[in-house]
Amino acid sequence: RDYVELYEQDQAKWALIRNVNTATKQSTLLPGDYVWLDLKTGREFEVPIGAVVKLCDSGQIQVLDDEGNEHWISPQNATNIKPMHPTSIHGVEDMIRLGDLNEAGILRNLLIRYREKLIYSLASYFSVYVTLPSSFLTSYFLFPVKTNCGGRTYTGSILVAVNPYQLLPIYTADQIRLYTNKKIGELPPHIFAIADNCYFNMQRNNRDQCCIISGESGAGKTESTKLILQFLAAISGQHSWIEQQVLEANPILEAFGNAKTIRNDNSSRFGKYIDIHFNKRGAIEGAKIEQYLLEKSRVCRQAFDERNYHIFYCMLRGMTPEEKKRLGLSKATDYTYLTTGKCTVCDGRDDLKEYSNIRSAMKVLMFTDKENGEISKLLAAILHMGNLRYEARTYDNLDACEVVRCPHLTTAATLLEVDSKDLMNCITSRTLITRGETVSTPLSIEQALDVRDAFVKGIYGRLFVWIVEKINAAIYKPPSSQPKYIRRSIGLLDIFGFENFTVNSFEQLCINFANENLQQFFVRHVFKLEQEEYNLENINWQHIEFTDNQDALDMIAIKPMNIISLIDEESKFPKGTDTTMLNKLNFQHKLHANYIPPKNNYETQFGIQHFAGVVFYETRGQCHVMLTRRDQRVLLGGGLAGWKEWADTRMNRVSVIVSPDVTDAAAQSHSPLQGAAILVNSRSSPSSQCFLEKNRDTLYGDIIQLVHSSKNKFIKQIFQADVAMGAETRKRSPTLSSQFKRSLELLMRTLSVCQPFFVRCIKPNEYKKSMSDCDDIFCVAAARCSYVICVIYVSGSRTTAEELFKGGIRSDDDAAEIDVRGTGPIGWTTSKDPAPGEDVAYEGRSSVSGLVW
Ligand code: ATP
Ligand code: MG
Repeated sequence: RDYVELYEQDQAKWALIRNVNTATKQSTLLPGDYVWLDLKTGREFEVPIGAVVKLCDSGQIQVLDDEGNEHWISPQNATNIKPMHPTSIHGVEDMIRLGDLNEAGILRNLLIRYREKLIYSLASYFSVYVTLPSSFLTSYFLFPVKTNCGGRTYTGSILVAVNPYQLLPIYTADQIRLYTNKKIGELPPHIFAIADNCYFNMQRNNRDQCCIISGESGAGKTESTKLILQFLAAISGQHSWIEQQVLEANPILEAFGNAKTIRNDNSSRFGKYIDIHFNKRGAIEGAKIEQYLLEKSRVCRQAFDERNYHIFYCMLRGMTPEEKKRLGLSKATDYTYLTTGKCTVCDGRDDLKEYSNIRSAMKVLMFTDKENGEISKLLAAILHMGNLRYEARTYDNLDACEVVRCPHLTTAATLLEVDSKDLMNCITSRTLITRGETVSTPLSIEQALDVRDAFVKGIYGRLFVWIVEKINAAIYKPPSSQPKYIRRSIGLLDIFGFENFTVNSFEQLCINFANENLQQFFVRHVFKLEQEEYNLENINWQHIEFTDNQDALDMIAIKPMNIISLIDEESKFPKGTDTTMLNKLNFQHKLHANYIPPKNNYETQFGIQHFAGVVFYETRGQCHVMLTRRDQRVLLGGGLAGWKEWADTRMNRVSVIVSPDVTDAAAQSHSPLQGAAILVNSRSSPSSQCFLEKNRDTLYGDIIQLVHSSKNKFIKQIFQADVAMGAETRKRSPTLSSQFKRSLELLMRTLSVCQPFFVRCIKPNEYKKSMSDCDDIFCVAAARCSYVICVIYVSGSRTTAEELFKGGIRSDDDAAEIDVRGTGPIGWTTSKDPAPGEDVAYEGRSSVSGLVW
């Protein structure tokens, strides 16, 4: 209401009340006053920093900033200092109450609360329909105002959670009791408050609820999901077997789907939606888990300092010597697939203990001993396959290869229960059927390695799907057929956030497509709900066209000839290549406002204007590229395409090594001298990593034939669908994007009938460290927190907010402190172009972790 009234007053009054007239305020500053200090350092993430006045001495002001640095501000630099609104001094629980509602205000609020171990804050959002002074058009926009503003136009709150990286005593049974059946805002913000509101809204309104948990890798999405589950299990209060089963699904999913990455020691490499079902009395009666896009490439390759999936290391630590002997296994360091990241242990994780937890969880979820044995056999076979060595040969002037005879081949064949000769043929040659004749052609070493890796990824991917199905078989109970009774549910979505790396590929397209869908969902939720409110209140409102991301979504996946369908078409087309695909995309979409075609015939990237910024997708097959840094050894994984140019233009001190023969050792020996070195993995495998091939995601007929010949029922079962398609598998099996699109459609349909809650997780630093060890939290947090601005200001509509600020408030000097930076692209890369001799900071989203499948 305050803001609305302010808008209706004249500008002079507005300026006066907002206290932003620096010139007049300057002279009135006294020691002890809080101010905003704009250091103007030129850093990309720069925002004014909070500070307190220590001395005022003949026009000079001495201040102490939030990072503990002292500054003298001379009268000439008076514009660098602005008084702080009282609400920012000690922070507020709901950021909508901030007088200085801008990036700096939000950031400082999160920071000072975080320092007091108050990791949760609220960001309530609002839609207000006001008539602006005559100089403005009547417009409709999203703008946060106080939550107590009449309450009627209040649409919801986002819970902002900053990862504490330490166990805080705020998740006890007492806390659960405290938060039970309370309104949001009644108690300090907490993840339990969200869980509690989900639960009681479900009961009160007899409506399904969902909770969308977002944030970058390591921000705390999975932990938040688990905390909500813990609360729901406690509140439903039955201590039942099914409750226990639902809770125990997590350790299994994490064992097979999580891994140590440079950003998170327990990073989920898949997305998931857990739908928890409640009976009439509000007790948990079952659940269903949906999984999305497991990162399969990790099974064969990990970036430096990253690991394969936890299960492999746990298994090798936890199995008895007899079990290991049966599977021909030794220790983790002996396996190529477990050591490409040069890291087999993870500080703070006890693989031995985890293994026993996984085994007991599997018991709870009804995995039989036989099934466990079969799973171990497949995992062991994967490890043996990874240790195969190849030697180059030439047959009839064709590049060919042979597998060097070694026990790994026979053990893998024994475990897969196939003939070892068949296995070897399968991974060194390919059968082609031309004009009815079957011809076997040899594969080069590169191709053979590709085929082997594809087989291994195929096994692991299908095993993961089987495991999720097995869990669902234990926890999912079909709805009761009782008339009148509709079962209610709470869904928790823990899914990868928007991604914009230095090099983006097919995976990022899928992930960003998912995020476009979620953004669209958010927009619709906010606008729709509000319009309903207006109708209820008989408020006379005009229908307002709002700008949302529907156009982008239409172009990607909805309208005829959309990007996904063109990629799919090309994937099915026998002669389709990444180039023909790109040509089709350009032809179809070059005039679309959300499409950025390549600048010339040599460029292989196309760009999409997403709601969160422009992302360029590289269509060319990619080599694996890693970047090491002298001090922190940060590693960036990604494709070579674009990297070299990027590195050449932006990092003049970096030596780019593009020879396929370069070894890690060579790269590292460069790094102390050069600051960084890029290493192209010695085994580049362009074919399996190109855009279309990633989308096809199919195995060659020879592999399917091999599986068909296996005496192992389990492997046949997980490959059931492929075996049924037989030789046609490559032509008939659905592409990855079409499967993903379908599961997203189902997800959006489910979400659309739910009442949603939003949790935004934020990572305070890049070092996986708790607050005490972290000195540059402020600067790094700045990068993270800009997201919040996005969420709060822009909510559904980036353009609406931009227009608003540009055309409206932004033009008003007095309110110029409202910063729209947060509406810019989310995927920043480096802080800025480094000057010679200056260290490059790989902050924010550019610290790519191995999302290369
Ligand atoms: P990814 O996208 O990589 O899966 P994520 O957002 O799911 O990341 P989490 O695995 O939930 O991130 O969190 C990373 C780590 O941060 C956890 O392993 C834990 O150590 C710590 N953490 C997160 N939230 C909390 C919390 N509320 N209390 C204590 N520690 C936390
Ligand atoms: Mg996670």
